[in-house]
Amino acid sequence: MIPFEKTLPYDILMKDVYVLECPFCKKDNVLLPLKPRDIVHVHEGKKKLLIFPCCGNKVMLLDSDSDYLLTDTVLR
Ligand SMILES: [Zn+2]
Repeated sequence: MIPFEKTLPYDILMKDVYVLECPFCKKDNVLLPLKPRDIVHVHEGKKKLLIFPCCGNKVMLLDSDSDYLLTDTVLR
């Protein structure tokens, strides 16, 4: 089971990946520098560094499913 406090819910809209709210600076609707295929690659085991464009905070993406990204960082 995925540890809830290290997950980040996301949405894909027109092949762009968004989070509803940045867990660090609380900005709404942040467009992430990810493509949907990056999320598939993360699920296949390819770790990826995600840098939030709003505030520059960094998390490592470890896994994903259709709703959540699993990171190495406690986000909530
Ligand atoms: Zn931010």
